[in-house]
Amino acid sequence: VTPKTQSIIDREIRFGAANYHPLPVVIQRGSGIYAWDIDGNRYFDFLSAYSAVNQGHCHPKILAALKQQAETLTLTSRAFYNDVLGEFEEYACKLFGYDKMLPMNTGVEGGETAIKLARKWGYYVKGIPKDKAVVLFAENNFWGRTLAAVSSSTDPSCYEGYGPYMPNFKLIPYNDLKALEEACKDNHVCAFMVEPIQGEAGVFVPDDGYLAGIRKICTKYNVLWIGDEVQTGLGRTGKLLACDYENVRPDILILGKALSGGFYPVSAVFANDKLMNVFTPGTHGSTFGGNPLGACIAITALKVLVEEGMIENAARMGELLRQELNRLPKDKVKIIRGKGLLNAIIIDPQHDAWEVCLHLRDLGLLAKPTHGDKIRLAPPLNITKEELLECCSIIHKAINAT
Ligand code: PLP
Repeated sequence: VTPKTQSIIDREIRFGAANYHPLPVVIQRGSGIYAWDIDGNRYFDFLSAYSAVNQGHCHPKILAALKQQAETLTLTSRAFYNDVLGEFEEYACKLFGYDKMLPMNTGVEGGETAIKLARKWGYYVKGIPKDKAVVLFAENNFWGRTLAAVSSSTDPSCYEGYGPYMPNFKLIPYNDLKALEEACKDNHVCAFMVEPIQGEAGVFVPDDGYLAGIRKICTKYNVLWIGDEVQTGLGRTGKLLACDYENVRPDILILGKALSGGFYPVSAVFANDKLMNVFTPGTHGSTFGGNPLGACIAITALKVLVEEGMIENAARMGELLRQELNRLPKDKVKIIRGKGLLNAIIIDPQHDAWEVCLHLRDLGLLAKPTHGDKIRLAPPLNITKEELLECCSIIHKAINAT
């Protein structure tokens, strides 16, 4: 680490809250799949801002949309109509196959919105007695940092010290349809919220048939399925939505992150008319949600994903990546898993995943360990075959050097 880099890190440590532990590298610029540090060193970005820059850094078309809209109109609040939000809603509803969309800003606000919607539906439509609604979650879920999100967490570093917690949140094992069916028999249950692949948990891919099974069980017991595709959606797993692998749709779909290509916080919740109509004027909202700047960016970010073939590319490059990763020494890399370009390797406890990431950095590739032994490998979706193979040889070198 150069003195300049160290001084920037030291300033953040001095003046910033210590709620993160970043890899020691200071990024100054990004373009496509690359990021550059303040000393001009170039890196392959294998985190993509936790899957928020699927379209690559500073995509020129999204940038142009941002500039044009920023010079025209940025924020009105929802006290008035603006001339961009409706276009975003129509485009997104038709793309994802829902009647209606509700715009928010961050992923966790999308989750909060979905749960509010589900509870209200539970009382007004399903007939659950007042304040008795139960929401089911899967163990090891991650959907953000609000009090509701940490109330459903099984990770002590997420929830400890933040009680009291939201009542009537019930946990069931992930990838376990029997447990889901048992839990759904309680007719106070209004919803099951789940990620199609658990991202933060370490890219945990459920068995084939899990998503279709959720659809069947939720329909049978009149329970809403809330699909959290904040991380898995938008091409990341090689399909527009990860649920597309089993041709099923959740009752409530949450998107965020790459919905803006990393330019701006934009999230959205989708549902059909009958369900979304339980929200009436004044019952939910956000000052920035649905603002014309975010809406304009999101339309363009979606079009870029679809029109530039990034989703199909993610599927192809994901296959190649896992094929190459499978040649890593088994004594050091115990497990390789993922779908499309959402992947993780699990490092044998004899070796240090943080050290691997420092080696990767020194060789020009940025990745971050989670939960000690897991390293997520998730580059932007427009990576080429040649670039990916170069990255694989870097990963091989770093693992061998550890
Ligand atoms: N849902 C999932 C599946 C996520 O992975 C995340 C963030 O990593 C979130 C929700 C929360 O998104 P945000 O950090 O934008 O609130």
